[in-house]
Amino acid sequence: MPSKRANSSTESLHASKRLESDITDEQESQIIPKSANKTSWVWDYFVEKTDGRVYCQYIEKDSENEIVCGASLLYKTQTSSMSYYLGDKHKVFNKKKEQQLK
Ligand SMILES: [Zn+2]
Repeated sequence: MPSKRANSSTESLHASKRLESDITDEQESQIIPKSANKTSWVWDYFVEKTDGRVYCQYIEKDSENEIVCGASLLYKTQTSSMSYYLGDKHKVFNKKKEQQLK
């Protein structure tokens, strides 16, 4: 009986496996759907992601392009830093103030 050389076939397997791990290595954070308790107006401009940060979705209009700002802030259960950011950076202020005071 001739002995089979199993080793020669595993080399190509190894190469494809390494490629796969490169893809799965960095886990991309997912957007958390806006929940009912997020009633603040700032959530019109921010999305929360699974990495514990919020991302600014404000669209800056260039002469021809629309660019999503994408800046991230650490979300600490309070929206004050987010509203400050929007006013400071984008000159966006609470337009729905009266609706909020139900
Ligand atoms: Zn921004």
